[in-house]
Amino acid sequence: MSGAPAFVSTRDPSRRAVTFEQALRHGLAPDGGLYVPTSVPALPAGWRALDRWPQVVEAVLRPWFPAEAANAAVEAAQQALDFPVPLRELGARRALLELHHGPTLAFKDVAARTMARWLGTILRAGGETATVLVATSGDTGSAVADGFAGVPELRVVVLYPAGRVSPVQERQLTVPREGVYPLAIEGDFDDCQRLAKRALVDPALAGLQLTSANSINLGRLLPQATYHVWGVLQLARSLAVAPEEVVSVVPSGNLGNLAAGLLAAGMGLPLAAFVAAHNANDHFPRLLRGEVDADAAPATIATLSNAMDVGAPSNLERLLALFPEGRYPVPVLGASIDDRATLASITRTWREDGVVVCPHTAVGLAALRRLRAAHRDVARAPALVLATAHPAKFPEVVERALPGVAAARHPRLERLPPARPLARLAADEPTLRRWLLAQLG
Ligand SMILES: *Cc1c(COP(=O)(O)O)cnc(C)c1O
Repeated sequence: MSGAPAFVSTRDPSRRAVTFEQALRHGLAPDGGLYVPTSVPALPAGWRALDRWPQVVEAVLRPWFPAEAANAAVEAAQQALDFPVPLRELGARRALLELHHGPTLAFKDVAARTMARWLGTILRAGGETATVLVATSGDTGSAVADGFAGVPELRVVVLYPAGRVSPVQERQLTVPREGVYPLAIEGDFDDCQRLAKRALVDPALAGLQLTSANSINLGRLLPQATYHVWGVLQLARSLAVAPEEVVSVVPSGNLGNLAAGLLAAGMGLPLAAFVAAHNANDHFPRLLRGEVDADAAPATIATLSNAMDVGAPSNLERLLALFPEGRYPVPVLGASIDDRATLASITRTWREDGVVVCPHTAVGLAALRRLRAAHRDVARAPALVLATAHPAKFPEVVERALPGVAAARHPRLERLPPARPLARLAADEPTLRRWLLAQLG
């Protein structure tokens, strides 16, 4: 039996190892790299027989922790993941894994709620406090704000691109919450992400004890590995197929969700393939086809699936370090779906399957249709499509695809107060530094 893995920076050739707690606490390595595990532990024997969500959470997470920390970490995750993650069958050997039943109606709740509890425990034990800095393309910010609010050891600063999140998302992001500071940044998501990453390693801000709650933080990725296993088990059971046959479609932007799935695959979750389903921000699918260089940094394109509007995905650096030269534990296919095809996918899924999906999930379904038409193996495979957000978060887009269909509503979103960011800031480092020091220093 090997022990729990240690963690190293993607950029440190000496591979100086830190514990999981340190990786979680700091978010980004001091050299600006992302933490990756030195080894990937195996799923426990008997994982295929698990048929309850909390059991799967335990099976996937326990092997990552040293024995003395494992019970508390697993229990915290099980408490955080107190909402269902059900399968919805669509016919034609497809099913959605509905990841949007958490408090902010997007899959980001899974990781944000778990990480908040883990981080709170670490800080409390050390008598410390910290400021979480999070860049959001729409959904992360409210999930983190909701999951972290009220943890007394933590303050949360949310950076979101002004005018580039949906009106509902902005209202969710700026709900007044204890210890949460939403800032509208005059730029795109990549600007927000760049500002957050620079601030984390800015010596002038050391006094704020900054950490990250973006998917650059390993504490975000591990909780997401749980539902990749859970989804495949549920699909395999309901269609009476082996996990080995399943194609899993992941609507992707920053590639955190795919990285989590590949960690699950590295732990021994067998699959026929992953599909990285991107919108017009297609750097990763093009990289898979050998058309571009890994370190090209394309600009972000604004699309209807805005939570996936990421030009240069952060987690690519992690994928390249974990799986050099594309040696993934299971095959990875890519697809890029434009806005027209996204709208058509929402319309078609409603007409044919009677389900209203969000634009991100629609990208996943469209990618599956396209790959089924192009690859015989994919055409025959049972497919899991991760449904990453509730359609009611994107009423404008759903209305365009389905005029007059009033199905995209959710009671939790009806009562939100008007959007009210704390400040609107230019997208430059000195401006953010000044604001942080003045308000929180
Ligand atoms: C964040 C998000 C994605 C993309 O996930 P990544 O981990 O960034 O690849 C997809 N869909 C929705 C609804 C999201 O909020």
